[in-house]
Amino acid sequence: MERTTVDLYEYQGKQYFARFGIPTSPGGVAGTPEEAVTQGDAAGYPVVVKAQVKVGGRGKAGGIKLANDAGEVRERAGEILALDIKGHRVHRVWVEHASDIAREYYASFTLDREAKLHLGMLSAEGGVDIEEVARTNPDAIAKLHVDPVKGLDEPTARIWAEQAGLVPEALDQAAAVLVKLYTCYVEGDCDLAEINPLILTTDGRVHALDAKVTLDDNAAFRHPEWAEYAATETEDPRELMAKEKGLNYIGLSGTVGIIANGAGLAMSTLDVVNQVGGSAANFLDIGGGANADVMAAALEVINADPAVKAIFVNIFGGITRVDEVANGVVAALDRVDIRSPIVLRLDGTNAEAGRAILKPHLSDRVLAEPTMLDGARRAVALAGGTPS
Ligand code: GDP
Ligand code: MN
Repeated sequence: MERTTVDLYEYQGKQYFARFGIPTSPGGVAGTPEEAVTQGDAAGYPVVVKAQVKVGGRGKAGGIKLANDAGEVRERAGEILALDIKGHRVHRVWVEHASDIAREYYASFTLDREAKLHLGMLSAEGGVDIEEVARTNPDAIAKLHVDPVKGLDEPTARIWAEQAGLVPEALDQAAAVLVKLYTCYVEGDCDLAEINPLILTTDGRVHALDAKVTLDDNAAFRHPEWAEYAATETEDPRELMAKEKGLNYIGLSGTVGIIANGAGLAMSTLDVVNQVGGSAANFLDIGGGANADVMAAALEVINADPAVKAIFVNIFGGITRVDEVANGVVAALDRVDIRSPIVLRLDGTNAEAGRAILKPHLSDRVLAEPTMLDGARRAVALAGGTPS
């Protein structure tokens, strides 16, 4: 049978750990800077804001930042949510109460297929890439084979922790955490349960600062609750918001937000933005109805995406008349406080009337261009790309 695995995000891993009593810092997940503030307020300041992507080395990539108050959380979360870490677009952050670290350890359980035993790895040199430790200083990793029939008890775990060189004051708590991690690994049907770093705080508490959990998909039949992990694979907070508003939206990783009427025109708009050296932040087709409600909803969704630096509204009036669209845009501008400059290209049925409606509202934040190509160039330039 083919073996498939499910990697969890750190926040899911920590929630998984919590079921088995493994201590973590109080925190919560957020998809927007405002949600991050709510989580920060709940966790208590200072907090760390951490990018939720399934790659290591997030700190070095700017994906882990400290914040001392609500304002800082909003800023740091906005920055991190706009990041792309090693090709992984950040859609969520984990916000947790910051820890004062005295020691950083490494702990994990996985299966040693050759030995047909579980393998625990424990090191006093945690916090860094464990493969690096294995290469440069293999003696710093204490390995323990665990017989699945006998399991692991605290006295054995304590001796193991001593051998790994954990400081004496950490031993009792570390032993308890190791037994819980083993239980999580076995009963939770993990292929890997890893804590790096497992920390000792300056006030003497041992807990998991990070979580890496890989589930064994062959055991999925025992875990109906795992369905939520499959769901988060495609869950993009922007797409969820758009779905709630009934919009046909697909999140992309660029900086130019796009609104067009008709799927064909939306696709061509993406192409033209790319051709002139920009990148689209989304695909968004508002369809036939472009009234104020639809336009306001579309602008709100795009506005919530921190990566967007400029918005290009590209409408070709047919059945939907351009003057109606223009009224929609004007009403939407009244209702939504738009962060980015907007470039509008309105053409087709009643285009003259539409442009006239828009004219008094034009500024250096709301611009009109006569053609799709001009509009794309202008939007890309405003987004900070160099239009060609
Ligand atoms: P990874 O690098 O992607 O595995 O992310 P981690 O969650 O392991 O965090 C990387 C590093 O950030 C840790 O080893 C810590 O040094 C630091 N860090 C993370 N959370 C905290 C915190 O609450 N307080 C302090 N002082 N450092 C933290
Ligand atoms: Mn880590």
